[in-house]
Amino acid sequence: MKTEIFDVTKLNGDVLESGEIHAGRGARRDMDEALRSIRIAAKTIRAGGLVAFPTETVYGLGCDAFNEAAVKKVYAAKGRPSDNPMIVHIARASDVGALTPRITPEFVRLADSFWPGPLTMILKKKECVPDATTGGLDTVAVRLPDHPAALELIRASGCPLAAPSANLSGSPSPTKAEHVIRDLSGKADVILAGSDSRVGIESAVLDLTSDIPTILRPGVLSADVLSEVLGREVVCDDALLRDGVSSGAAPKSPGMKYRHYAPKAEMLIVEGSEDRVRAEINRLKSLNERLGAAVGVMLFDERAYAEAARDFYARLRELDDLGVDLILAGALSDRTGIGFAIMNRMFKSAGYRVVKV
Ligand code: AMP
Ligand code: MG
Repeated sequence: MKTEIFDVTKLNGDVLESGEIHAGRGARRDMDEALRSIRIAAKTIRAGGLVAFPTETVYGLGCDAFNEAAVKKVYAAKGRPSDNPMIVHIARASDVGALTPRITPEFVRLADSFWPGPLTMILKKKECVPDATTGGLDTVAVRLPDHPAALELIRASGCPLAAPSANLSGSPSPTKAEHVIRDLSGKADVILAGSDSRVGIESAVLDLTSDIPTILRPGVLSADVLSEVLGREVVCDDALLRDGVSSGAAPKSPGMKYRHYAPKAEMLIVEGSEDRVRAEINRLKSLNERLGAAVGVMLFDERAYAEAARDFYARLRELDDLGVDLILAGALSDRTGIGFAIMNRMFKSAGYRVVKV
C-alpha cells in the first residue's frame, strides 16, 4: 500500500477558530494547504481507510468508528490483539450522544472541566457501536483530543474516529511524526505529520460505569484532580497497584505478557534515593560495558515531570536507534500524579525488571 504523508504542522488552532483575522497571507496559505490535506484524509476515512494523525497525547491511527471492516484493518495494521478495545475520538462533547444511550451529570462535569484534553471516559455503549471497536465489551471509551489537526479531521470525516496509538503493537507509543512514518508506512493510507506530541503519554482512562469511578490507565490527570471535580472518591484499578507500580512489591520476573511500550533493548529500572540510583546506574553501566554491552541511560529531572512524560517514549526510541543492548532507567520517586503515570509505562517497558538500591 502507498502511504501518503502530509505536513500539517502549520495548522494553527487559534487561527482556525478566529477565521482569517489574525492570519497574514503566508500563514493563510499554509493553513489552506493543511486544510486541503485534512480534507483528503477525511475522504480516506469515509472510504474506510486508515489515517494516522497527531493528538496532544500521542499520535493515533484512526478510522470510522462505525465501520467494522475499517476497525479490523486498524488491528491488523498495528498487529494489535482484537480484544484490546479502541478509544473513540469525537470533536464536540455533544457528539457523545451517538455513542452512548445515557449522558450522566458526572460525564458532563468531567467533559466540561477536562475536554478537550487527555481524559478518556468509559461509558455504556449504544448498540450501533460495532463490537470490533469495543473489543466485544458493552462499554465504549470516548475522548475529545486537544489538537487542531485531530479535531479538524474528525469534523471533516463526519464520524467519530476509533483510534489506538499509531505504533506497532508492543513498541513505544509514537510522539513524533517520524515514529509514525517508521512504524506505519505501507500500513496506513494517510499519515498527517504534525509537530511533536505535547503531553507525550496516553490519556488517563476513567471508567464511569463502575460504582466508584475507576482509573484503568493513569495519565497526566491524576485521581485527585478528577475526584475534586466529581466531589467524590476516584480509585485506581487494583491491577495498576499490584504490579509493583506503587505497592513496592518485589519485582516480577520478565514475562512477554508484560512487555508493552517496549524498546528492543533489554531494560532495567533502578529504584531508590536519587544519589544511590545514579551511583548504581554508573556501576551497572561500567560493569556491562566491560562485558562488551552497549548501554543507554535514561534519567529524568525530578523537578520536571511534565517534560519527562513528554520525552519518555522518544527517549526509548532514540536509545533503540543507537542500537544499545541495555537501557538503565532511573525510577521517579514521586508516584502521586504524573510520576505515577510515567512509572506505569516505565515498569511495562522494562517488563517489571527492577533493582532496588
Ligand atoms: P490505546 O488506544 O493504545 O491508547 O489504548 C486504549 C486503551 O483504552 C487500552 O488500554 C484499552 O484497554 C482501553 N479501553 C478502550 N476501550 C475500553 C473499554 N470499553 N473498557 C475498558 N478499557 C478500554
Ligand atoms: Mg497503545
